[in-house]
Amino acid sequence: MAQKPVEIPGPLGRAARARRRSQAQRALAPLRALLSALLPRLLDVVLSLAVLLLSSPLLLARGLWSLVQTGAVLEGETMIGRFRVPFRRLRFSGRGRLRELALWINVLLGDMAVVGPRPLSREEALAVSVADSVRFTTRPGLVSPFRLRRQVGIAHQGEPALDRDFVYGQSLRGDLGLAARSVVTGVLGGGARETPPLLNFFGIPILNTSMAEAVRWIIDTSAASATGEPGGPLLGPRQLAFVNPDCLNIAWRHAGYRQVLLAADRVIPDGIGIHIGCRMLGQSLRENVNGTDMFPLLCEAAAAAGRSLYLLGARPGIAAAAGEQMRRRFPALELAGARDGYFSEDEEPAVIEAVNASGADILLVAFGAPRQDLWLARHRAALSARVCMGVGGLFDFYSGRVRRAPAWMRELGLEWAYRLLQEPGRMWRRYVIGNPLFLLRVWRQLQHPERFPLPASGAASGAGAGQSGVMR
Ligand code: UDP
Repeated sequence: MAQKPVEIPGPLGRAARARRRSQAQRALAPLRALLSALLPRLLDVVLSLAVLLLSSPLLLARGLWSLVQTGAVLEGETMIGRFRVPFRRLRFSGRGRLRELALWINVLLGDMAVVGPRPLSREEALAVSVADSVRFTTRPGLVSPFRLRRQVGIAHQGEPALDRDFVYGQSLRGDLGLAARSVVTGVLGGGARETPPLLNFFGIPILNTSMAEAVRWIIDTSAASATGEPGGPLLGPRQLAFVNPDCLNIAWRHAGYRQVLLAADRVIPDGIGIHIGCRMLGQSLRENVNGTDMFPLLCEAAAAAGRSLYLLGARPGIAAAAGEQMRRRFPALELAGARDGYFSEDEEPAVIEAVNASGADILLVAFGAPRQDLWLARHRAALSARVCMGVGGLFDFYSGRVRRAPAWMRELGLEWAYRLLQEPGRMWRRYVIGNPLFLLRVWRQLQHPERFPLPASGAASGAGAGQSGVMR
């Protein structure tokens, strides 16, 4: 039997060593605090000096060009900096490229940092609430968490919340990661493009909407007055569908699914693939309105508006666990019911009856695409909820059964790679074959746009109206 080691009392014992270590740590704490406060600024100075020195020929040429154009090298705009102290945000005067290179002078001067919340104008700064004022305890940045997420279309939490999270969780490592991710998305993104209200992928109209607008539509539409009597034999709930590249690949060859998407009230763009597809088509996606990010926002809005949710789908216990998670976050949330998505055709009438009996306003169905959307379209007339939507693997994430990709991967648009690593056997076809196939098809559409016309009524309806030919 292994014996417990005997603790030697006195200065040679383990307790004494631990005490000495903790004393040393305590003695060094002020030095560590000082270093962690100074190091980011030191790095900003070194980096800005390096950029300014290395680009000095460019700076000189750009300065001369500004001088010739306007008689002045630099111009400035008053912005509000750290501790609400105003500063002049510099740029080269006149027209042309590289005007923003002068911002590195602001970094060198200490007005700005490489990473920090977005610099605000006076008016914007006045509108910042007391609760969000913590953003002014740090220097505004050339790159900000909000800008990075907006570039990828996932700034759903809103700027104040992102800034708060940034300030409270700031670390040198985090700053370096954010700067690196901003460089990557900046190189891949960039360039102004038109932002049409309706996107066209393979002839399917997709609403170029924002997360806030999509949630508002669901809440407004699920009001009793919006659709008349629930359970009406002709109407049934309004249907919303999220589509990602995999869904569009399926719709390419699956006429029934394509028809469902054409008849849905709203088709919403989900995932980085649509973002890239838009860019190939020379357009810009307003936001990546994916179901996973929407779920908590929808629950919050539903709790505030008094709408109830029914969660149908996933393995036994999973939908209920996801609902419970949400109820912990939003205690006013009304969950009308939950059940798993593994039932036979014979059980369908009972399932529909249970959903209707629950009196739910909004029905979320998670059977995976296209099954969930086909199922909803098939049973729509029999359902009495006012809004229904297919939500894929969402309950798995919120129940904790499947882990979602970390924030840094989502900011790089790599959530799909994380899912591929988690379930390579099931996902390889979807991503390894599906992603390039989708891009190839978008390229084909670009070559022959006349082969992919939008249905006339869908194209005419634009954002905010029903997408289907039938206005409901
Ligand atoms: N699922 C279900 N019933 C079925 C087959 C699948 O409820 O007969 C569930 C499955 O448990 C999972 C979801 O449907 O929760 C599909 O997840 P997937 O990751 O495929 O969805 P995606 O978001 O990728 O469309």
